[in-house]
Formats: sequence, structure tokens, C-alpha cells
Amino acid sequence: MSDQEFRRALGYANAAFDLLKRSSIPPYPQFYELMYTYATGVNPSLNNRINSVFRNGITPTNDLAETLYNEFLKSDVNDRMSSVSERMHARIEAVHEAIDSAMTTANAYSGSLQSASGDLDQDLSAQDIKQLATRLLSETRRMQDTNRELERKLAASRDDIAALQRDLDDVRRESMLDPLTKIANRKSFDEGLVEAMDEATETGTPLSLMLLDIDHFKNFNDTFGHQTGDQVLRLVAMTLKSNIKGKDLAARYGGEEFVAILPYTDLKGAVIVAENIRKAIQAKELLKRSTGEKLGRISASFGVASLWPNDNVTSFIERADRCLYAAKHAGRNRVVSETELVEIDEAPPKDASAA
Ligand code: GH3
Ligand code: MG
Ligand code: MG
Repeated sequence: MSDQEFRRALGYANAAFDLLKRSSIPPYPQFYELMYTYATGVNPSLNNRINSVFRNGITPTNDLAETLYNEFLKSDVNDRMSSVSERMHARIEAVHEAIDSAMTTANAYSGSLQSASGDLDQDLSAQDIKQLATRLLSETRRMQDTNRELERKLAASRDDIAALQRDLDDVRRESMLDPLTKIANRKSFDEGLVEAMDEATETGTPLSLMLLDIDHFKNFNDTFGHQTGDQVLRLVAMTLKSNIKGKDLAARYGGEEFVAILPYTDLKGAVIVAENIRKAIQAKELLKRSTGEKLGRISASFGVASLWPNDNVTSFIERADRCLYAAKHAGRNRVVSETELVEIDEAPPKDASAA
């Protein structure tokens, strides 16, 4: 985490605490998350709702905070995960019960066999033997019935468990995706980066990282509305995804920032990929689907870094982030790689993408 990012996060955290204190909402983790999210402004519809609460002089209550949390932040994925887990639990319980009941019958059967073998040690009349055989036959039938019942229950459980397994796989897959853009989320990125860095180190192959931030996106949102802004985020995500391939991983890093992990790609190659994406984003003339209204074009700035032998996750991301910052500083709508860091850091600020 860069100093800049740390200070930004601390600022959000302080703002969240202030809001909780002012509205006397208990600082439970979920309410803190609600206010932290508000402070970052990444969820414009949540902010609109909270702003209207403040504007209308409504005193925020626990219930309201709970409602907002459930509506805006509580993850559907978590709900589904617990539902799958509950169903799995119930299934396992049913299998245990079926096995217990089969074992009770098996024990009783084994008891009957033992007593029958004791009886056979004595002198028995033909009549006694016949009775014994009849008893054993009926016990055996009961045992067979229980076994058939157990088989049936196990087969049903097997099908159920297979369905649960598929549900669980779906939930797991979704928990790795960003709900808005449907590309990988920050969690997948964090995991993917560690894996890619390990692999690059083991195989001695290059690895590059590309950060992308949409230029003046706040203006865009303010001008055309957040829903249109969301559409643009989807479009950028798709553009990013369609310009990478193979083992590359494109993810939403947060807000209007995206990231791509580019294994087996050196800095030069990564700059070419970034340039292609930059041009593709800028080439799109945006149209509002519902009205056909022309919305102009958007651009994005890029920071590109390649792995050094002594890098850790933080230093690697930080270098790409510094490149991105340099790209913004140098006028936006451009790609800056780590080789250009010094030159650009020293240049005076200008803005090439002022629309
Ligand atoms: P810069 O060129 O310096 O990056 O300017 P910017 O306006 O893009 O950057 P800033 O960080 O000031 O604002 C980012 C904006 O991105 C704030 C917020 O309105 C918008 N944003 C973040 N997440 C979302 C989202 O999920 N949906 C929408 N519609 N907008 C979002
Ligand atoms: Mg940003
Ligand atoms: Mg931006």
C-alpha cells in the first residue's frame, strides 16, 4: 500500500467514525462498512440515499442503518453460501441417521444369529429347527429391507449432494467476480497476483502489471448520471477483457480503477497491451442506449510495471500505481511505464484530455 493510499484510507475511516458518532449509530462492523463506503463515494446510489436522509433531517436509527446495509452492502453471495451450507448440513445429518438406523438393525440381526447358533448347540426337534429357520428367514428379510432402504436414502443423498456441490461451485465462482462488471474482483486479483508472482519467480519468466484509471470519471457521472456511469464501467471492463488473453487476468481494482496481471509479458509487451486498450477505450463513441443521446468519449490513464527480483506484492503494485499517478500528472489519456517514472515526475502538470 502506498503512503498516498494509506492516507486516503485513513481519511475515509475517520470520516466514517465521525458520521457514526454524529448520528449515534453504534460502530458495529456492518455500520462502519456502510459509513466507510459512503465516505469513499464508490456507491453513488447509497450516497444519494444517505444524503437524502441527512437533507430531510431524518434521525438515522439502527433500523435504518440495518435496512441500508441489507439493501446496498449485504452480499447475496454470503446468503447463498449459508443456504448451501445449511442444506449440506441437513443432508449429512440425514445420511448419519440412515446409517445409524441400519447399524441398529444390523446389530439386532447379529444378536439373532448368535442366539440361533447357541440354540443349534442343543438337541433340537425337527419342529424347533423349523421354527428357528422361520425366525432367521424373517430376520434376514428385515435386514434386506433395511439395506434396501439405506441404499435408497444414500442414492438420494448422493444426487442431492452433487446438486449442492454444483451450487457451491457457482457461489464460489461468483464470489470471485465483481457484481457490476462481471470481471474478476479485487479478491481474485489479490490471489491471482500472489500466484503469478510465485510462478514468475519459479520459472524465471517476466511478469507485468497494468493499472488503469478512467479520466475525469466524476465529471462524467455528474453530467450523465451514475447509471450511465455504470454502463461505462461495464464497457471499459469488456474492452479490457477483450484485449488480453491466455493466462492474463483482468480485474476491477475498485471504483473506476481496473488492473491486469500479464504473465510471460515484459515491460515492452505490457506497454503495447496498455496502448491498445487505451486506444480502444478512446475510440468508442458513447451513446445512451435509451435515448440515442451522444455522450462523447472517455479516456483512461495507465501505469505499467514489471516484476523485479526483490519485489513483494506491495512494492510491485506501488510502482504501477506511481506510474498511473505520473500518467495523470502528465496530462491523462496516456500510458506511463516504470522506465519513464523519473522523467514524468519532473515534468510540469498539464491536462491533455480536457474535453
Ligand atoms: P481522475 O482523472 O483524476 O481519475 O478523476 P476522476 O474524476 O476519475 O477521479 P475521482 O477519484 O475524483 O473520482 C472517481 C469517481 O468515480 C467518483 C465516483 O463518482 C466514480 N465511481 C466510482 N465507482 C463508481 C461506480 O461503481 N459507479 C459509478 N457510476 N461511478 C463510480
Ligand atoms: Mg480513481
Ligand atoms: Mg479516475
